[in-house]
Formats: sequence, C-alpha cells, structure tokens
Amino acid sequence: MARPARSSTLTPRLVVTPPHAEPTPSGWYLTSGPELPLVPLKADADCECLVVGGGWMGLHAARRYAELRPDASVILVDAGRIGDNASGRCMGFAIDLAHNPRKKDFVEDVRGNREELFVNLEGIAYLRSAVEELGVECDWDPQGKYHSAATAHGVAALLSLSRALDKLGQSYRWVEREEIRAITGSSHYVRALHHPGTILIHPAKYLKNATRALPKNVTVHENTPIVGVSYGEPHLFFTPNHLIRAEKVIICAAGYLTKFGFYDHSAIPVYTFASMTRPLTDAELAQVGERDAFGLIPADSFGTTVRKTRDNRLFFRNVYAYATDFETTMEDVAAARKHQQIAFDRRWPGLSSIGFEASWGGLLTLAQNGGMVWGELAPNVYGAAFCNGTGVARGTAFGKAVAELAVGKTSPVIEILKRRRRPNRAFPRPITALGVRLVTGWRFMRAGAEV
Ligand SMILES: Cc1cc2nc3c(=O)[nH]c(=O)nc-3n(C[C@H](O)[C@H](O)[C@H](O)COP(=O)(O)OP(=O)(O)OC[C@H]3O[C@@H](n4cnc5c(N)ncnc54)[C@H](O)[C@@H]3O)c2cc1C
Repeated sequence: MARPARSSTLTPRLVVTPPHAEPTPSGWYLTSGPELPLVPLKADADCECLVVGGGWMGLHAARRYAELRPDASVILVDAGRIGDNASGRCMGFAIDLAHNPRKKDFVEDVRGNREELFVNLEGIAYLRSAVEELGVECDWDPQGKYHSAATAHGVAALLSLSRALDKLGQSYRWVEREEIRAITGSSHYVRALHHPGTILIHPAKYLKNATRALPKNVTVHENTPIVGVSYGEPHLFFTPNHLIRAEKVIICAAGYLTKFGFYDHSAIPVYTFASMTRPLTDAELAQVGERDAFGLIPADSFGTTVRKTRDNRLFFRNVYAYATDFETTMEDVAAARKHQQIAFDRRWPGLSSIGFEASWGGLLTLAQNGGMVWGELAPNVYGAAFCNGTGVARGTAFGKAVAELAVGKTSPVIEILKRRRRPNRAFPRPITALGVRLVTGWRFMRAGAEV
C-alpha cells in the first residue's frame, strides 16, 4: 500500500459530523462491571479493514472479519464508549421475530417473516457462540419473551401476532391473567402470549465483554471519532489528530452513516428512553413475582417494555421522540422519565414510590419505507445500519454477514440481505419531523394503559 504523507498535511474530501454525547449514562452501563481499558488512537495507523462503530453491527463485523482473515489487521473505532452506545442502552431482548404492526401485511407476509426469523436466528447463534465459545458473560437467559396486554386492544394485537405465528408454524403459549400475575406480581396485565426463542441479555455487559474477547488481530480505539474521510486506495479516515489508512471500511455508524456520504436525507432519527430502579430489597422483591428475571414486550408497540433483571432491578422503556439532528437533551430524558414513572405506578403501585436510579435515551434510526442499509456502498466501502426499531439479533446478523461479504463469501443470509429493501429518501426534514411528532404523540395516547 502506498504510504501518503502524514495526517497534518492532508485534508479530508468529506467532513464527517461525529455523534453527539448523550446527556446521561445508561443504567446498563452503570451496572456492567469494570470499564474497558480506554485506548484512543494516539498515532497514524494502517489496516486492511477499518470498522466504524462498536454497536451490535460493528462489533460483530469486526469479529467476523478478523476470524475469516486471521492475518489481516482490523481496527474498530468508536466515537464513544462501547456499551454506552444505543446498542448498550437497549432493553436487551435478542429477538428472533419481532411483532411489527407498522408493517401492514405483517400477518400475511409469511415469506418475509420466515426470512426475518432466519436472519435473526443467525444473529442469535453468533451471540450464543460468543457466550459459549469465547466465555462472554452477559446474564444470558433463554426464557423467551412475554407479549403482555393490559387492555382489550392489546389483546387484539396479541391475536394478530398469534395468527402470524400460526402461519409460520411457530410454537407459543397463551398466558392467562392469573399466571402473568404470578410471574410479575402485577395485576396490570389481562393476558399474555409467551413466545420462546428470544434471549434476554445484559446488553452493556455483552458488548464490553465481547470487545475483550475479540480476535487478537482487532485493535479497538474508543473515544476516537472519525471526523473526515477521503475514499480511495487506500481510504483515508481522519480522527481529530490522526489518520487511519484502510484498504476496506465497514461503516456501522447507525444513522450517522449518512454523514459518510451515503443515503443522505434517508435517516429518520428517533429516540426512545428507559429508566432503571435501584436493586429491590427482599420485601420489595416479594411484590414482583416468583421469577428471578423476566422480559415483557408491550402488546401495543407504543406501550411500555419491562425487564426484571437478575440483580433485582426493574427497567422500563417507553416514549418515542423525533430527535432533530440525532440529538436528545436532559429535558427529553426527564420528560420520558415521567412516563416511565406512570408505567411503574400502574404496574406496581405498592412499590413505585422508590422511583429510579438512572434514566437515559438511545437512538433508533428508521427509514420511511422500513429499509435497512446493508452491502457494498462503493468500491471497498461496506455498510450495515438503520435498525428500524430492533437491532440486537438482527444487527448482529447484519454485521456478521457484511464482513463475510467484504471477504468475498456467500451465504443464505447474504442472499436474503442482498434482496432487502434499502432506505428511501425521507420527506423534507420539517415535514418528517412534524409527521413523526404527530404520529408518535397520537399512537402513544391511543396506547392508553399499555403504556
Ligand atoms: C432504549 C432502547 C431500547 C431498545 N431495546 C431493544 C431491544 O430490546 N432489542 C432490540 O433488538 N433492539 C432494541 N433497541 C434498538 C437497538 O438498540 C438498536 O437497533 C441497535 O443498538 C443498533 O445497533 P447499531 O450497531 O446499528 O448502532 P449503534 O449502537 O448506534 O452503534 C453505532 C456506533 O457508531 C458510532 N459512530 C457513529 N458515528 C461515528 C463516527 N463518526 N466515528 C466513530 N464512531 C461513530 C457510535 O458512537 C455508535 O457507538 C433499543 C433501543 C433503545 C434506544
């Protein structure tokens, strides 16, 4: 590879805006154990493959590329701390098949659902291999998910989900009021549907421990934003003080991928928010059911997701908000926290006065048509991004498959992902922002007691 001059004499052809800092750390990150040793980039560097972004997509792209090319140098950079990104801020459901009522033909689209399931199971298998073969500790819990309804319209949504599962030949079980009360200790829910196959994990623990377990040929630099790029042979990536020369790049920067010159005006930046209690005392634990841990998905997608974790905390997620320029504020986090408190009051009125120890938000990147970025975007430039709501299992599969594509492999997942719809251009920003605000506000109100 020809060695260009040092970074100080070069300017990037494209200036890249790096991510905003989050106003609050996530509860998962605060409870994820020792920090990773922080190694920002301290000198110019060369590699065969640069991966940008240490979320579900990027971490698994780096792992897979390095496994397949054990003699190649791989650099993984992240603008922030791995585990405190959207991936580490999520609710930790590695979902085999999500209920997607946003998709009008969800029940009828058997082929689409089968392919989605196939891709997600590939992601779950890769996560499992990290746990079983690499010893990644993450509170792995294969108990499945409870789609839980508190209202008649919630029960109707569960029936629609059950029809889709029937068409796929998936096993599931109805959980009636008494049983869901025994599991959760809450009288809030009237019915639930248990779907096995989803894994509950501690997302920040997984991401940090999987980073520690990456193959030896991966070098990780956190707090290392890419702020400029010149694509070529090699590609030049600029950090604030240094330069990375890379033959190939895999960009897994969620909505920020648009800042790297691709899919401009297609990312719809939406934040969702969560709060975590302190560990419950023995007396308090008596009020939250008989299980060590559980995960409840709301029957209405605008309802509240709940986790009880093995360290005896409750986690609540709700509220979607348009995030202008991918940024959220303390005020947004505080406003959402009020809704998480309402959700807590509704479910465990005898307990909810304990409030929360931490509250945070995280970015979901949506596309107007539900499309996702995946594949070769330009010569030796690969990308995987835009989770459209769920990204643990799917993001892992996307990251693994895009690395396989980058080394010239084929696979059934690659064939599926090649056919997937790509993000379309969104309406002009003021229209999109207004539209998202109106729709999320209306659907949140309509979700009623599912929140
Ligand atoms: C509160 C919440 C709950 C959720 N719950 C679930 C759930 O239970 N199950 C599920 O499947 N999904 C869930 N999601 C969605 C899931 O978190 C996302 O789909 C997933 O994190 C997307 O992963 P990613 O790798 O694409 O992006 P990210 O995790 O956003 O990673 C992108 C990375 O790129 C880095 N980056 C961006 N630009 C640059 C740059 N210029 N230079 C260097 N680095 C850069 C960022 O710092 C970031 O770390 C949830 C999301 C939230 C916010």
